[in-house]
Amino acid sequence: MIFIMLGAPGTGKGTVASILSEKMNIPQVSTGDIFRKHIKEKTELGILADKYISKGQLVPDEVTVNLVKSRLEEPDAQNGVILDGFPRTVKQAEELEKVLKEKQTKLDMVINLVTPEDEIIERIENRRICPDCKAVYNVKLSPPIHEGICDKCGHELIKRKDDNIETIKSRLQTYFEQTSPLIDFYNKKGNLRTEEVSKKINRFGKDIAEDIVKEFLK
Ligand code: ADP
Ligand code: ZN
Repeated sequence: MIFIMLGAPGTGKGTVASILSEKMNIPQVSTGDIFRKHIKEKTELGILADKYISKGQLVPDEVTVNLVKSRLEEPDAQNGVILDGFPRTVKQAEELEKVLKEKQTKLDMVINLVTPEDEIIERIENRRICPDCKAVYNVKLSPPIHEGICDKCGHELIKRKDDNIETIKSRLQTYFEQTSPLIDFYNKKGNLRTEEVSKKINRFGKDIAEDIVKEFLK
């Protein structure tokens, strides 16, 4: 099973991916999380990735594609994965097509999350993450039980370094220029599912994930 999470920063891709991963028992592959781990450990890849991530730009395709290719070779990925934040360019999507063809695996669904821009900015500013178990919180919409502490593992929560207003603006621009063409790319293939995430309609990542799980596991 292959699922792709598509959508601008802060729309809830990680939330949907982590619920689908748990319920469908296949790993969540978040390129952002993998890059952050490398940055923390100051690996060569981390040092390179940080230069782009801190400016709100994409890590070059070649680097990202190789990273995902080797992740897909790991034993736990053989029954499928939830790709969270990959592909993010048409080039990456084309490379993924090749890999899936080689593996004779088909793409099940591309979940495209759409959120109004003002809400995106608010969501990113209120976002806190657990650097340990990667759980994601929103201090207004989905706060942890104890302020600043992860419900799941007790670790102290942090704000991501790139979750500041200047970087958010360039991340959004990057999304519109380089990632949004994928909506059309996957729509043409016929497996795009667009979902609105917005407080205006009281619909969040959790609701969307639950609907998809129900449909798939029925
Ligand atoms: P968000 O969706 O909130 O932007 P992510 O954790 O998915 O957060 O990504 C954080 C950053 O990591 C991105 O802004 C980008 O710089 C880098 N990144 C993640 N995935 C990719 C990718 N597929 N290609 C290139 N860069 C990526
Ligand atoms: Zn945690």
